[in-house]
Amino acid sequence: MPLIVQKYGGTSVGNPQRIKNVAGRIAGYHARGDKIVVVVSAMSGVTDNLIKLAREIMPLPDEREMDVLLSTGEQTTIALTAIALHSIGVPAVSLTGAQAGIVTDGVHTKAKIQNITPRSVHELLNRGKVVIVAGFQGETPDGQVTTLGRGGSDLTAIALAAALKADLCQIYTDVDGVYTTDPRIVPSAKKLQEISYDEMLELASLGAKVMQSRSVEFAKKFGVIFEVRSSLNENPGTLVKEETKSMEGIVVRGVALDKNQAKITLVAVPDKPGVAARIFKAVGDAVVNVDMIVQNISHGAGTPATDLSFTVDKPDLLKARKVIEGLQKEIGFREVIATENIAKLSLVGVGMKSHTGVAGKLFETLANEGVNIEMISTSEIKISIIIELSKGEQAMKAVHAAFLGA
Ligand code: ASP
Ligand code: MG
Repeated sequence: MPLIVQKYGGTSVGNPQRIKNVAGRIAGYHARGDKIVVVVSAMSGVTDNLIKLAREIMPLPDEREMDVLLSTGEQTTIALTAIALHSIGVPAVSLTGAQAGIVTDGVHTKAKIQNITPRSVHELLNRGKVVIVAGFQGETPDGQVTTLGRGGSDLTAIALAAALKADLCQIYTDVDGVYTTDPRIVPSAKKLQEISYDEMLELASLGAKVMQSRSVEFAKKFGVIFEVRSSLNENPGTLVKEETKSMEGIVVRGVALDKNQAKITLVAVPDKPGVAARIFKAVGDAVVNVDMIVQNISHGAGTPATDLSFTVDKPDLLKARKVIEGLQKEIGFREVIATENIAKLSLVGVGMKSHTGVAGKLFETLANEGVNIEMISTSEIKISIIIELSKGEQAMKAVHAAFLGA
């Protein structure tokens, strides 16, 4: 008897009718004789609303109390889903994270799962019940309610699939799967049949927000194969798994555009040991996350100097700029240029490890579009470039057409 873990996100359970639709789908699998564990999120908007309510009372509420508050969102959905299954004659029982045996550390609002003892889940399954588990929550060894960080229901599903040694893990969402690029911008974007964990992680961190990154890392670590698919139709989704030899045959799996980056350039930085350390220590101390860094010594006349550029998340630009300006006297660079007017375009694919000419083809495509490249960074499976924001979507379309078809 196959054991299936299904996870339904907030939009899939966004109102009573959608919850009934979800129940109908679950009933179909139940009728086949499968053992089914269902993980649900809070109904869409509920978690945000709860946060808003608390902040109306005080700006920085106690995190233990936030966990007690936020866990009610998922608790509402498990009961409603169980009721929806009862209404069509399917035996179902809802469990909180704690009741399902999910034990976490005590870091409130971003707890890590320590272990799962799914004894009651197994017992209920053996009695023929569908088990509905609240996503995003657990409890500490001494019984405190915790939550796993925003988007944490994905993690609950993946971790339960690992603990239960599920035969299948399905992540139901409001898109059909993972696409070669954003279909809202590039109509010729294609749904991928499969993608490797590493590619999925790159695309997720690049803004293709299909799943919480931590849950993909967890799946990779424990080898949980899962499928991302839509709860609104019957289309097969995208299979996420360890990379196979055949995956390397495809050079570029996807193209992502991140418009949430900003760039800071320090002009004419003295070229001597310790300068970069001083700069990035200060930026790090201000808890600003740095993404790309580019530096190259200039070989012109005079004392050796270098321009140094780096990117940060847009909301952090002001803070980063302040920090850098505070260093100007001490370090002695000429000026600081800060701009929000950039976008990061990235090509991702495990096939890049074994194929040549990807960078050349990328740069040629951009040249033909008259797009200037401001920064470049590469990894084994990714090339990222910084370009002007206003050319971002045009570049994305051209690059997608060049590598993945129009
Ligand atoms: N309800 C939580 C959130 O909105 C967890 C989840 O949806 O996965 O972040
Ligand atoms: Mg979610």
